[in-house]
Amino acid sequence: MFKKLLMAASLSSMTVLAGFSSSLALAAAPMAKTPAPGYFRVMLGAFEVTPISDGTVELQVEKLLAQPVAATNHALSKVFLMTPLETSVNAFVVNTGTKLILIDAGAGSLFGPTLGKLIANLKASGYEPSQIDDVFITHLHPDHVGGITANGELLFPNAIIHVDQHDVDYWLSKENLDKAPADQKGMFQGAMASLNPYISAKKLVPFNGNTEFMPGVRAYSSYGHTLGHTVYEVESKEQKLIFIGDLIHVGGVQFAHPEVTIEFDTNQKEAAAARERVFNEAAKDGVLIGAAHIQFPGLGHLQKDKKGYEWVPVNFTQMH
Ligand SMILES: [Zn+2]
Repeated sequence: MFKKLLMAASLSSMTVLAGFSSSLALAAAPMAKTPAPGYFRVMLGAFEVTPISDGTVELQVEKLLAQPVAATNHALSKVFLMTPLETSVNAFVVNTGTKLILIDAGAGSLFGPTLGKLIANLKASGYEPSQIDDVFITHLHPDHVGGITANGELLFPNAIIHVDQHDVDYWLSKENLDKAPADQKGMFQGAMASLNPYISAKKLVPFNGNTEFMPGVRAYSSYGHTLGHTVYEVESKEQKLIFIGDLIHVGGVQFAHPEVTIEFDTNQKEAAAARERVFNEAAKDGVLIGAAHIQFPGLGHLQKDKKGYEWVPVNFTQMH
């Protein structure tokens, strides 16, 4: 009955509208056709954290995840997604009050035209690339390091680049490049093209394993996705945020099933173990997470459930 009434009401309003538009010929506003803003902002204690979008890229994740295609498609449909999955690439700026640091740098020109928006979005967020003091790279895949260099020029001319030595040794090795299969040579070449200008300028400073760089800024090894994959923790006034890089790629699958690995992992078993270790601790301690490939802004908490985890995105805030 109620439904019938509603239908009658909407039919009559349609009639009215139709009559209205034909007599007045309403002009529709043109669509804006611009993307949503590519930065976000929260406070962490006294630190200001600004997630920056490098853009999105479509991935055939059903072919990349180590589980049956039907299982991936089913999991994605339950969260109203499908393949190819539009996947975020996020970087993060942290202003500690004394240093301006960048965690990962997006793809630059290495991954196609839908990525490489880091610099534009950084500027939109109120910062200039020349203000960045330190860039911490989680690992040397092109979607994390490609954005530090353009045409052989340093895009962060005043920054020191920090990367775990294991990744530097692996991805900058001419020998590894030579013996890599043809479809993987680009990964080595991308890392080299991105880092070489900083090496020439003596601005690449690798570290070995767990390291504290400055008060409240630390690296923890989470090897597996690559040989030197690292998560970075920032802490201010007892509030912690861990930037987890590529510990997870497909939230719609891997939060509930953290045991599912992805083809990009160098060592799938170790990658899954590192994910479990970091997720478990972060969930237990209620630590905020910043993730490179969870939908922008990629900030949230983890809630442990029976088998896996639930992702709880951060609340929107304008309080500073
Ligand atoms: Zn990545």
